[in-house]
Amino acid sequence: MSDAGMISPELASAIRLVILDVDGVMTDGGVYYGVSDSGERVELKRFEITDGLGVHLLKRSGVEVAIVTGRRSEVVARRGRELGIEEVHQDPGAEKLPIVRDIMERKGFAWEAVAFLSDDLADIPVLRRVGLPVAVANAVPEVAAIARWRTGRRGGDGAVREFAEALLKSRGEWERVVKDYLQEREDAEWTGTG
Ligand SMILES: [Mg+2]
Repeated sequence: MSDAGMISPELASAIRLVILDVDGVMTDGGVYYGVSDSGERVELKRFEITDGLGVHLLKRSGVEVAIVTGRRSEVVARRGRELGIEEVHQDPGAEKLPIVRDIMERKGFAWEAVAFLSDDLADIPVLRRVGLPVAVANAVPEVAAIARWRTGRRGGDGAVREFAEALLKSRGEWERVVKDYLQEREDAEWTGTG
């Protein structure tokens, strides 16, 4: 678990939007380069499946989830679709700050309502402003120093799931949302839709 203990309930209760970086947060930062038989370049990343349920449970609690990355890759678009994340922004070379500002303006969220999960220096302008800056276990020291909470797990190894659980526990919503989720699964199995 996190070396920072519980997320402060005061910070956690204000969060309405969780923004995820991709490389080093949703993945271990590794990128696999390949070439298909037809000569097409192929880029692969490894995502952690348990993070997906974390995202799902956040959304069930009414917390929005967005992806903002500085690299463009079809697999990120696909993972975003799989997780039902509508705000997927892949903007190579661009600053993340204007993208985050745009999401907040459209949705009417203040900085206090935003959590951002990060591992590297490029995210610091955003981390300095959000209400809940979070560093994954593999984050560089500069990011860890700004973070108000740190995961015990590394990116690509359940850091997103750990954060989702910690946020919902701090808000007192974890037990209810898990109970509802399990009940729904059970109902689906009884009716044969699961
Ligand atoms: Mg990163």
